[in-house]
Amino acid sequence: MRDSQRSKFYSWEDSFIIKLIPDYNSPLCYDDCVALMQRVCNKHKIPMPLVKITRKDSGKSYYRCMDHSVNLSIYGHRYGVVLHEIAHAIACKTKPDDGGHGEYFVGIYCELMGRMFDISIEYLMAQAKKYGLKSTRLNCQEGTL
Ligand SMILES: [Zn+2]
Repeated sequence: MRDSQRSKFYSWEDSFIIKLIPDYNSPLCYDDCVALMQRVCNKHKIPMPLVKITRKDSGKSYYRCMDHSVNLSIYGHRYGVVLHEIAHAIACKTKPDDGGHGEYFVGIYCELMGRMFDISIEYLMAQAKKYGLKSTRLNCQEGTL
């Protein structure tokens, strides 16, 4: 599927989000990763994805829509990575045509990051726009993560 915002998104995440949110890279144990995913899935009313661990240190973390699974590398046991991958899961289940790092994915990502780290979601979306990213929020859900 077309993923036209992919490289822009990665550059925004690397150069803006990770600096704005020092806790992005705070480590989590496996159980905390799963508990965080479960909490977000419950809130967004999507089924919990299958979680697999990639043992290689250098392994990438990724979500796969085809079988609704999250591969989490050992390095990926971090708040930011877990929220990034679960944002893909929500986008897949609610806007399957969004395409990778599409506008709904970016909106969901901003919502999860904003709620988790107490940052204005609108501010995050405005900053994403500066990097040329389109973002759209799903039906606005109130409250915390
Ligand atoms: Zn991604």
